[in-house]
Amino acid sequence: MRVAHLRILKDEKLCRNCGFCSTVNKCLNVNCVGCLACYYACPYEARKIIGDRSERKTIRVMVNGTWHMVPEKISVKEALKFSGY
Ligand code: SF4
Ligand code: SF4
Repeated sequence: MRVAHLRILKDEKLCRNCGFCSTVNKCLNVNCVGCLACYYACPYEARKIIGDRSERKTIRVMVNGTWHMVPEKISVKEALKFSGY
């Protein structure tokens, strides 16, 4: 499945190694789901949004007792949108 998706990269030239994203706003995701939390939290604007149209698998999620098929590596908010909420 190909969907427009956001992903965040760290711009090493702008990063000042303040540690905010590894302590206070630590991301626990193995793969970026584009939630933008680190983008808004970085005090030095070192997080950049990029578009990602790479191929991705479809996974099953259950919402209110019903299974829905959604692309992998998306936020809960996006998964709910795909599920019609
Ligand atoms: S919060 Fe921003 S400036 Fe600080 S370490 Fe993370 S990416 Fe670098
Ligand atoms: S905090 Fe959100 S946007 Fe930032 S790397 Fe983690 S999943 Fe991606």
